[in-house]
Amino acid sequence: GHLLHVISPLSHTPALSGNYPVLRKLALELRTAIAEHQLELYYQPKISLQSRQITGFEALIRWNHPIRGLVGPMDFIPAAEASGVIIQLGEWVIREACRQAARWQQAEFPFKRLAINISLIQFEQSNLMDILESSISETGVHPERIELEITESVMQSSERTIEVLHRLRAMGFYVTIDDFGTGYSSLSYLKRMPIDAIKMDKIFISDLGSQKDADIAVSIISLAKSLQIRLIAEGVETPEQITFLHKYLCEEVQGYLISRPLRADEMERAYDSICQW
Ligand code: C2E
Ligand code: CA
Ligand code: CA
Ligand code: CA
Repeated sequence: GHLLHVISPLSHTPALSGNYPVLRKLALELRTAIAEHQLELYYQPKISLQSRQITGFEALIRWNHPIRGLVGPMDFIPAAEASGVIIQLGEWVIREACRQAARWQQAEFPFKRLAINISLIQFEQSNLMDILESSISETGVHPERIELEITESVMQSSERTIEVLHRLRAMGFYVTIDDFGTGYSSLSYLKRMPIDAIKMDKIFISDLGSQKDADIAVSIISLAKSLQIRLIAEGVETPEQITFLHKYLCEEVQGYLISRPLRADEMERAYDSICQW
């Protein structure tokens, strides 16, 4: 609805949050949404172009709003961040994703990792480790099966970022830099980042027909190779894009061409057909 759009420009002004009635109202609604189980995680597969197998999934949040129907994250995550509700919401996401990963692990459903999006605000939260640790121990999922997607903007922050990333990896989690190419990370900084993978932003994939974007995509692929880290291309929608990525040796892809994000049970049913893309 328009209510949500009206407040999205506030997403970068958290200081205002307490004063804004609209933001307050949405924050309250989101608290209700958590309590009344209106939130749901959808799962989108990532596949390997070499093995042609599903390597893992990304958990993407949806809001089954009682009046507005299915609401996508772009319409409430910015407001959740501005109001601070992202802390509770993010905790719900971590616990729910770990529960699902544990179920799939137990059922021997074939996947390597389940990726969770972590907002910068959550990343800066002091008890993120505790939440992750308790989610792991409560559900029994192995931390190696959990991938944390953190946007490139974390790169701008401090020495603390590097330390937190080291600790997350020491706990066994996979760490991936999301939306790579849209931030301002310098090469020297990237070299020092303790990360397992980078995810090339979909803006570079959508226009591979343009020489400029094709050049950028190729240089991101070779950057990942020289740093010896995994690379995932997101937003793959056409066979031509797959051909391009395959040619330039990008190993892993995700996008509507392979599968849209699906509910957990839908994903279980679609698994075999997804592998035959
Ligand atoms: P993101 O992490 O970059 O996620 C990728 C987005 O691209 C998702 O949108 C996904 O559905 C969409 N997508 C996947 N394949 C394609 C494709 O082939 N073409 C195009 N055009 N789009 C594709 P979605 O689900 O609407 O999520 C939007 C953003 O909301 C995410 O961007 C992420 O930043 C945020 N988000 C989603 N779930 C969570 C969550 O649980 N926690 C947090 N903190 N943020 C979340
Ligand atoms: Ca992501
Ligand atoms: Ca992304
Ligand atoms: Ca994004």
